[in-house]
Amino acid sequence: MTTGDNLFGRLLKRSPTAAHDLPDRLGVPPTGLHLYLDGNGDVLQIAGPLRHLLAQHKPHDRPLPLSAYVLPHSLLSIEGQPRDWQGQLLDLDFPGLNDQPLHLRGWVQVLGDGWLLQMLDIADLLLERQQSRHRDACQTLAAQISDHLRTCSLTRLSTVLGEQLQAIAQRWHIPCLAVALLDEQTQGWQIHQQFRGHDAPELWVDGQRLGTPLDSLNGSAPQRLDGQQGQYEHSRLQATFGNANGFAVPYSNDHGVVAWLLCGFYSVDAVAPWLTDRDWLTLAGALAGPLLSRLREQRHQQSMERLESLQNLLGTGWWEINHEAISVAPSLATTLGLSECTLPVEDWLMFFHPADRDELRSRLRALQLQGEALTLSVRLHRAEAGQAPAWYRIQGQVSGTGEHRRLTGFMLDISDIQNQQQRAAAAHARLDNLIASSPAVIYVQRYEEGALIPAFFSASLQPLLGWTLADCDAAALGERVHPDDREVYFQRSRQLLREGSVRTRYRLRDSRGEYHWLLDEAKLLRNDLGLPVEAVGLWLDVTDATLAAEQVRQSEERYRILVEDSPAMICRYRPDLTLTFGNRPLATYLECAPEQLPGIDLGGWMSEEQRAAFLQRLTQLTPQHPVSTAEISLQLPGREHAWWVWSDRGVFDERGQLVEVQAVGRDNTEVRRSQQQLTQSAKMATLGEMATGLAHEINQPLNVMRMAIVNVLKRLGNGDVQVDYLTDKLHRIDAQVQRAAKVVDHMRVFGRRSEIEQQLFNPAQAIEGTLSLLAEGMRGKGVDLRISETGFEAQVRGYVDQLEQVLINLMVNARDALLSKRENDSAFKPWISIYVERDEENVRLWVEDNGGGIDPRLLERIFEPFFTTKPIGVGTGLGLSVSYGIIANMGGELSVRNSAQGARFCIELPLATDDQITR
Ligand code: ADP
Repeated sequence: MTTGDNLFGRLLKRSPTAAHDLPDRLGVPPTGLHLYLDGNGDVLQIAGPLRHLLAQHKPHDRPLPLSAYVLPHSLLSIEGQPRDWQGQLLDLDFPGLNDQPLHLRGWVQVLGDGWLLQMLDIADLLLERQQSRHRDACQTLAAQISDHLRTCSLTRLSTVLGEQLQAIAQRWHIPCLAVALLDEQTQGWQIHQQFRGHDAPELWVDGQRLGTPLDSLNGSAPQRLDGQQGQYEHSRLQATFGNANGFAVPYSNDHGVVAWLLCGFYSVDAVAPWLTDRDWLTLAGALAGPLLSRLREQRHQQSMERLESLQNLLGTGWWEINHEAISVAPSLATTLGLSECTLPVEDWLMFFHPADRDELRSRLRALQLQGEALTLSVRLHRAEAGQAPAWYRIQGQVSGTGEHRRLTGFMLDISDIQNQQQRAAAAHARLDNLIASSPAVIYVQRYEEGALIPAFFSASLQPLLGWTLADCDAAALGERVHPDDREVYFQRSRQLLREGSVRTRYRLRDSRGEYHWLLDEAKLLRNDLGLPVEAVGLWLDVTDATLAAEQVRQSEERYRILVEDSPAMICRYRPDLTLTFGNRPLATYLECAPEQLPGIDLGGWMSEEQRAAFLQRLTQLTPQHPVSTAEISLQLPGREHAWWVWSDRGVFDERGQLVEVQAVGRDNTEVRRSQQQLTQSAKMATLGEMATGLAHEINQPLNVMRMAIVNVLKRLGNGDVQVDYLTDKLHRIDAQVQRAAKVVDHMRVFGRRSEIEQQLFNPAQAIEGTLSLLAEGMRGKGVDLRISETGFEAQVRGYVDQLEQVLINLMVNARDALLSKRENDSAFKPWISIYVERDEENVRLWVEDNGGGIDPRLLERIFEPFFTTKPIGVGTGLGLSVSYGIIANMGGELSVRNSAQGARFCIELPLATDDQITR
């Protein structure tokens, strides 16, 4: 569609009858517009086809001047008369139909006596001119746009593009304008950048993905889109342009259409009819061409920057050798500390460690001369000592031939890897060394069809067993297992395959024929499918440990036998007296099996007091004095009292706390019994000895009673029966009966066996008891008894009858000494004195006589059993010895000294402590 078409369209459609009704003054049919003027310029007639297009074309009744027909701005051209216009081209605009002006050009020529103004339509001409003006403007703008986009810095590219879009939009009144580029990844179109007038709706945004609808447009020419007419082939395309008028200008390069300039809400023919498709293509090219190239440049620069930073990070960079000079990447020059990026190869080599330099030089030469590719790891030569070396990998190659032959390569900092590798290698070497020198052998067995085939042994195999891998196929190994352990060995492989791991022990023969105990721990490794691949394991030589354990076991066995077979009772118990172990003899005493002993309460066989005393004794055990021995008494099942001599040894923890007691005991019951019997027989002997005294003791009341009875009978014979008298006598008899009964009672008590348990008592009781038995007899023999006050408070622990026995012994001995002295000296006045003393801790009972004392040479011996100075049959020699034992058993001491007149015996007894008394 061109403007020329419009004209013909106008002519053809709107003036079909124009030709035949024209008046013909020239004799030929007029073309354009013919105006016949008179000499003044008044229009006489109008002819020609164009007259139908004039708003006013019919001549009036009166001719009007030409100026009345033209538009005002054309008046200047027709000032004066037609004569004046001769020889000029007149451009006149006439008001046309529909207010469309007619642009006409013509000239006047004389016609008869008037003038003919012959005019042609120059609308085409004008349009072309306008178009060319617009094209010029358009090209200028395009050049500017292109210039701006090409020259701006990359950082301003987007701003500049925005400005250029704005310039175009404003210039041609485009409400929405955008550049869409092809996104290479999605192969879809994307709004790269858009501009819209401040009152325009938002059609697009930057970065908006449009997809592929633009592909449906013809990419060789600008496309007009009219939403109203439904010309879109694709509804998505319509949507892209907001279902309104649109205009899309393609930009193509070798790859086809790569950009679109999109104008939204834009009816191009109405708004900018002057712009040809070429102009639009030029504009689009001016925008998209530089934009794409700048974007490429931007991408390139970014990738260069990335590369650069990557090189910096990696410590890598290129190098190139040209003749004898080398150029290196600037970043590399900086890290290497080079002052120049280009320097003689020989100077460059100086930066490397002397140890690597020669090799590098020779390899470079091989590269230069033979084109041998270069790959080498080298160290930098560092001045500072003690720093980890910087390692570089240098690679180089020859490319091109002839003039284009180049020697290029790169250097890569591999210090980290190299140092790590070295550390790893060192660690590996240490590990190898460790494995080789350890008593462990690491092995790998390959799994093959259910069998495990030795595939690797660590080097320690040789020193340990004297074999190499070659000596150890599966069959040979089985052979070398100790015959007793073969079952265990084959079981091991089966268990390993079944359960995935195994830990066992067996003996293996070494190359010298000696057996080693090996602890074998192995694990089965499986692949991703769960199928066995190989077994990895460890042999640890545990021969020493196994033998030691065996020795310990044997010694434990011996110890156990010793303990079991010992006649002594051996046990361990906790501080609360719960047994943890006891041997057979103990079990026998306790009437149970040895296995039943643990858990039994040892204190269960003791009385409350014995148990308390036992525990009290344990509290005195300390790590410094862990041993205590005592005689303990127990009430064993079905027996009388048992007496055990019991030795405890405390076991303490690190804080000195008693955790266990180990005890050894021996039955002392028999000894105890015989001792008791001895005491008893001594007691009986004492009683025997006292018989005379006792007879006297009982005779005395009998005599009194007999006298009373005789007197009463006499009175009765006389018939003299006075009630008061009789009563008095009977009371006397009763008193004497009581007195005799008391003596007999006490004798009976005294003659009884002692209690098992010690009791608390006042020693005064014993003195009283003694006197009740002896006093009368003594006095009967003329011995003066001097008894001092005995009513004092004191408590001792022991047996009151035994203390009495001691006192009787001492008094009887004193009596014997006194009487034998009086035999020689009838004037002698014998006396026995008993008195008591006490202090804070002890009570002392003194028995003193004036019998002349004991021969000092015998003083040492009188406490020995069977020592007596008395004739055979009279003395037993047991009295003092038994007495000594009794007092010692009560924790006291019996001693003797000679006083001026006789012997002075002292019984010292410890006073019971307060807690003993309260218990
Ligand atoms: P026995 O009285 O049967 O001889 P003892 O053991 O009681 O046995 O006494 C041993 C000896 O000690 C006596 O034989 C006697 O020589 C001496 N003896 C004991 N008490 C006295 C005493 N009070 N005075 C002198 N000698 C004594």
